[in-house]
Amino acid sequence: MDRLAIVVPCYNEEEVLKIASQTLRDVLEDLIRKEKIARDSFLLFVNDGSKDHTWELIEEEHQAHPERVRGVKLAGNVGHQFALTAGLLTAMEMSDVTISIDADLQDDVAVIEEMIDKFHAGNDIVYGVRKERKTDTFFKRTTAQAFYKLMALMGVKTIYNHADFRLMSKRAVEQFSKYGETNLFLRGMMPLIGYQTDCVYYDRKERVAGESKYPLKKMLALAFNGISSFSVKPISMILGLGVFIIICSLLAAVYALISYFTGHVVQGWTSLILSIWFLGGLQLLAIGLVGQYIGKIYMEVKHRPRYNIEKVL
Ligand code: UDP
Ligand code: MG
Repeated sequence: MDRLAIVVPCYNEEEVLKIASQTLRDVLEDLIRKEKIARDSFLLFVNDGSKDHTWELIEEEHQAHPERVRGVKLAGNVGHQFALTAGLLTAMEMSDVTISIDADLQDDVAVIEEMIDKFHAGNDIVYGVRKERKTDTFFKRTTAQAFYKLMALMGVKTIYNHADFRLMSKRAVEQFSKYGETNLFLRGMMPLIGYQTDCVYYDRKERVAGESKYPLKKMLALAFNGISSFSVKPISMILGLGVFIIICSLLAAVYALISYFTGHVVQGWTSLILSIWFLGGLQLLAIGLVGQYIGKIYMEVKHRPRYNIEKVL
């Protein structure tokens, strides 16, 4: 039987912690009763440097249910992505399969069973995907969807409408741990791992209590980090723009010369306008070209694993 660890990053979640613990423990008990996971499956709360009583509550939960609830206390606030990674890597040593979920229970715990079933059917990663975003505000919904579309446009492979509610097998987490990059954008990294994957669909609910720890500023930072960590397309765009401007400068040259010979111009205009177009294009082209090399260096320094062997016969 596989031992499941449910990893829950928590930042200032004192209002929801007890409810989350109770709900998720019930899920575990239910799955144990149905003999889908091992008896020693557990919850792993990661306290991401909370300023409130979150950690004390985690300690209380651990004392009350030592076999079910475990906790990791990070020394300071490092942000959701790092906190979750800390939890996954800690859980990797102690379990066969992990599920990550937010503390606020916005993600539907009812699909956890389906995730486990899909894991038993041979999937190494099972993504939780939101069907609709009815409960999100109009603002959050449109910005989030624009974000997923922009990512696709920039050539970053992500699962549309999937956040960080996902099941990962031990070997998937192990492969993930080989990605040594510091700028973490988990949603973009998971598809790089490979293996057989599947999705489960659910409706996203409202927060049980408390308020969002992801204000607009953090959302924008996450979006920018996602694109800049996975794509050097913006650099290629500069290069493309340079080429485009140079072509424009040729057209401008034709126009300027015709104007010159038909004599409708002020003296000095022709040479000036040609220099502006041509030099502008040349500069962009040069920046784009240098950028291409920087982009390569950037990808090199990440030292990502180049492949992941699943089986050798
Ligand atoms: N979180 C965290 N560190 C942070 C910010 C958030 O561990 O610096 C956790 C938070 O406790 C929650 C999850 O990340 O479990 C998602 O945050 P939230 O629900 O506030 O984001 P939203 O659902 O509003 O996007
Ligand atoms: Mg939330």
